[in-house]
Amino acid sequence: MLILMKPATNPDMVALVCSAVEDLGLVPHPIPGATRVAIGVTGNTGPVDETPIRGLPGVVDVIRVTKPYKLTSREMKPDDTVVTVGGIRIGEQRPVVIAGPCSVETREQTIETARRVKAGGAHLLRGGAFKPRTSPYAFQGLGEKGLEILAEARDLTGLPLVTEVIGVEFFEAVEAVTDVLQIGARNMQNYPLLRRAGKSGKPVLLKRMMSATLEEFLLAAEYLLAEGNRNVILCERGIRTFCDHSRYTLDINIVPELKSLTHLPVLVDPSHASGKREMVVPLARAAFAAGADGVIVEVHPHPDKALSDGRQSLDLDLFADLMRGLERYVPEPAVDLVA
Ligand code: PEP
Ligand code: MN
Repeated sequence: MLILMKPATNPDMVALVCSAVEDLGLVPHPIPGATRVAIGVTGNTGPVDETPIRGLPGVVDVIRVTKPYKLTSREMKPDDTVVTVGGIRIGEQRPVVIAGPCSVETREQTIETARRVKAGGAHLLRGGAFKPRTSPYAFQGLGEKGLEILAEARDLTGLPLVTEVIGVEFFEAVEAVTDVLQIGARNMQNYPLLRRAGKSGKPVLLKRMMSATLEEFLLAAEYLLAEGNRNVILCERGIRTFCDHSRYTLDINIVPELKSLTHLPVLVDPSHASGKREMVVPLARAAFAAGADGVIVEVHPHPDKALSDGRQSLDLDLFADLMRGLERYVPEPAVDLVA
């Protein structure tokens, strides 16, 4: 349910409506808009008698939200959400590029990569300290030491940091250091982790699980918003199909569909989607052409020596190729893509 308020409502009117919602046993979520406040309502398992709400001062209309995901839907919030990280406005400025190594391996490798991607025009730095690996025998990341190196790379370059949190047990350590918390594909349905991240003051980059439908993806994001975190960024990173020519299949279809159904920013990860460095630049361009707000790519100064995902990591020349003329692939105006 969504309660639309008149443009000139004061905070007392909003507070009154919120307490009336609570009296019904439901949860109010005030959503400030460009011209007026709306109040999203969650928590109902069946139809609600909205008559007491309709009569309150300042209320214009009460609308049923038809989708199972509520706070993430454009029905609830028509305006794009813009997540601001270190002055970068994700969801508004395009193109946004997040770049860096798959894993933090050494101080030198991380700092060199950070410096080079910064010089090449990247907006944020990515890098994994805690790694979710398919094999228990594969390099698992440097853990807390990796976080220290990432913090140093951020301080040296000024690039805000995106790093993954793989479980609630590591949450505080990662949260203390990072600018954006990444929740990886394998954890998209780790509900305790989603709830914890929903309580964080840091933005969350949520990756789509390789088998998730659009609805499951948005319901995972809904956990974050329902806990109060409005700074959520979605990321398509490839799904599992019958194809055997690439690691996963980039579901480019989901980009315009997400842009139309949710107000949240949408990124694409062409590195994990393809698993092959030669596919990353064309897929990144396709992502922007399809309406993505940004891309997240893996970069390594010596990909053949990388401890994880070297085959899909761009070298520094390919990263320069990616950045060259990228604006040409961003449709103008981008909002035309939203149905
Ligand atoms: C990553 O970004 O390093 C990663 C592990 O990605 P995903 O969760 O999409 O596999
Ligand atoms: Mn990787």
